[in-house]
Amino acid sequence: MEAFHATVASLFGLVVGSFLNVVIWRLPRGENLSRPRSACPGCGTLIAWYDNIPVLSWILLGARCRGCKSPIRWRYPAVEALTGALFLLAWQSHGSDAVTAAIVALFLAALVAISFIDLDHRIIPDAISKPGMVLFLLVAPFNGLHAGVEWINGAKPGLNALLGAGIGIAVGMGTILLIRAVGSWMLKKEAMGLGDVKLLGLIGAVVGPLPCLYALALACLGGAVIGGVMFAIGRRRPMPCGVEVVGTGAHRDLTATFERMRVGETGLEVRGAPPAEVKTPVRVALVLPATRILEDDDAHLALEGNIASVEGEGDERMWILEITKHTDDDAERVGLFSMSYKYIPFGPFLAFGGALCAIYGREVHWALSVGYPSLFHR
Ligand SMILES: [Zn+2]
Repeated sequence: MEAFHATVASLFGLVVGSFLNVVIWRLPRGENLSRPRSACPGCGTLIAWYDNIPVLSWILLGARCRGCKSPIRWRYPAVEALTGALFLLAWQSHGSDAVTAAIVALFLAALVAISFIDLDHRIIPDAISKPGMVLFLLVAPFNGLHAGVEWINGAKPGLNALLGAGIGIAVGMGTILLIRAVGSWMLKKEAMGLGDVKLLGLIGAVVGPLPCLYALALACLGGAVIGGVMFAIGRRRPMPCGVEVVGTGAHRDLTATFERMRVGETGLEVRGAPPAEVKTPVRVALVLPATRILEDDDAHLALEGNIASVEGEGDERMWILEITKHTDDDAERVGLFSMSYKYIPFGPFLAFGGALCAIYGREVHWALSVGYPSLFHR
């Protein structure tokens, strides 16, 4: 019976992961999440249900579209498998309390969507973090992670749980706001995005005030390790992803979003899988999302240029663009743009810390607390 429940949790996670792929793609683009049905970006064919089975279809199709054989990114099955694994962990750690397990699973799903949207666009969408805070505050009385903590002696458990979630939100948001203020003053530039403020608020609403500080500590630890490794191997940071290249003239129908781009020696190098065969040269207009660390607003940087050459095959195909003109009047923007690939998004690290606290709360508390009063029970 135990194995049956675990299997159901994992399968449900796989299906939710499939939906998260849609959220990750469409939400930052302002598209409707339920319509139209998913289609191949290469040939526009609607994806049949039997080609849309999580992970399995990707393997059976050999990572290619059934119609046009254009490659399907490995990230789609990876997000599905990750969500399946997280749902299994949520069930294993909280299975004795099904409601808490469901709350934790929903929280983990939100963290997956937030992490990949942050990686792609350097944005933590308010559309997830804000309603998430409200929802997890409202369900706090049913969330076992808040149980056993008495904020008011003798008050009903439900009230104490609501207080735990509310104080969690305040501590989470307040801490990042404080770090932002100190960091901005010391570095003379924006140290952390407002999206991170709301993300730690969301984490605090689910796990409570002390564990949300643990999540922040784990995020800093993870960031230091990953940042250190990347510095050590001398890898140049890729640019904010999700760059849209829109063709004009003879290639008016050419619209593609690419996974990675960077400033290379030959110009702007865009790596990804173009939807169809394109002859060079072609005029392109690049619309780059302004990164958080440089700009407070959502301004876009528009560049125009030609595809000078195409290198590589399939997923590794790289378009080398020669930028001839940037349509933004602010000339300094181009300089800012090349600076910005030093920026590592913090959202995925916060999500990692939050997930660890929600799944392995007791172990994290044991590892990070030195003689704290036991504020956190699972
Ligand atoms: Zn296709």
